[in-house]
Amino acid sequence: MEFNTKLLHGKTASGYGQRELLPPISQVTAFQYESMEELEKVFAHKSMGYAYTRIGNPTIGAFEAKINELEGGAGAVCTSSGMSAISTALLAVCSSGDEIIAGNGLYGGTIDLFHDLEKLGIHTVFAGQLTGERVKELITDRTRVIFGELISNPSLTVIDIPELSSVAHEAGIPLFVDSTTATPYIARPLSLGADVVIHSTSKYINGGGNSIGGVIVDGGKFAWNFDKHTALSDFKKYGRMALLCRLRTDIWENLGGCMAPINAYLSYIGADTLGLRMERICENAYALANALDKEEDIEVNYLTLPSHPFHEYVEKELNGYGGGILTFRAGTKERAYKIINSLKYAFIASNIGDLRTLVIHPASTLYIHSGKEEAEAAGVYEDTIRVSIGIENKEDLIEDFLNAIRQSRE
Ligand SMILES: *Cc1c(COP(=O)(O)O)cnc(C)c1O
Repeated sequence: MEFNTKLLHGKTASGYGQRELLPPISQVTAFQYESMEELEKVFAHKSMGYAYTRIGNPTIGAFEAKINELEGGAGAVCTSSGMSAISTALLAVCSSGDEIIAGNGLYGGTIDLFHDLEKLGIHTVFAGQLTGERVKELITDRTRVIFGELISNPSLTVIDIPELSSVAHEAGIPLFVDSTTATPYIARPLSLGADVVIHSTSKYINGGGNSIGGVIVDGGKFAWNFDKHTALSDFKKYGRMALLCRLRTDIWENLGGCMAPINAYLSYIGADTLGLRMERICENAYALANALDKEEDIEVNYLTLPSHPFHEYVEKELNGYGGGILTFRAGTKERAYKIINSLKYAFIASNIGDLRTLVIHPASTLYIHSGKEEAEAAGVYEDTIRVSIGIENKEDLIEDFLNAIRQSRE
């Protein structure tokens, strides 16, 4: 089954209680039982059933099953946000004294989280560009996880998942990939060798810009060494399912970052059009990047441009697509502001993955608290404009951007 067909007809796309065509919204806190004996069985995991929405809910379960099927995982756990997914996944496998190896140029919130984890005794080693060679140098006997973003935002660097996972696996360490900007339409990190995939569903998966959410998908294939991954040692008897079991029955449940049922519903119906939207978004981004590239005083950063340093990965890992984010440099901050302010169709907003085109000046917003070096490592300069491409007609987008650029010269 191809992607769009699977979204509508996959094995997780039906089977709801009253033959509903979509999962009903179970916007409830708790579930009632006829007898105490029945509820006891649910708590003891001896019978299937829901008790309390933080621990399980059919609407959330339907969305988890859908994303899990798209990513080809063994199981998925939804969270209140993308940040909740990242923090929960890392805390599930790291204890005080453990180390994480991560790339630079990551999502700002993730970098801030690594600083928070320092205070819990979990140290992050930043690798610069996350390559197999670099990771090999940095692995110590304390390393517990390698963490990278498949396509970094907004620098648009790409990690080589097959290479990284083989280096990581040789050392008995799993590779966790934040695939938010790639989406399961463009890449399936588990099939490339990653062990865990994380998404902020707030972005492309929801697509309509109407709910914050996150998801952790475990491939269920990693052979945990419980002497090394002591954070999972209570779950040793579950073998390769240890991480999923710890998430579901322990750390995810106890940290309490569940997704709201209404958000699961909105994200579920949003995901139904993920393939269509990504197809259109990537087509628009490609067209706009090529049009901007012809302007001599504009420097464009988009993955499919032949001059892009990660261009080869478009075919190798990204199914031929460049994704929905492009950045360009306008020369000065003043000119960047002028261009942004004169755009007609791009909303000025701090988000990506919406079906509307969004634009922002990252240096004075997302990176306002970062040092110059940190920002530049993420591809953010004083004159950088980030565009999250939407599904509008490309002719209108191109005309709008070219007009704004022309006006900025006056
Ligand atoms: C937005 C984003 C996050 C954080 O997700 P939230 O849903 O905002 O918590 C993490 N990683 C990437 C790549 C993102 O774009």
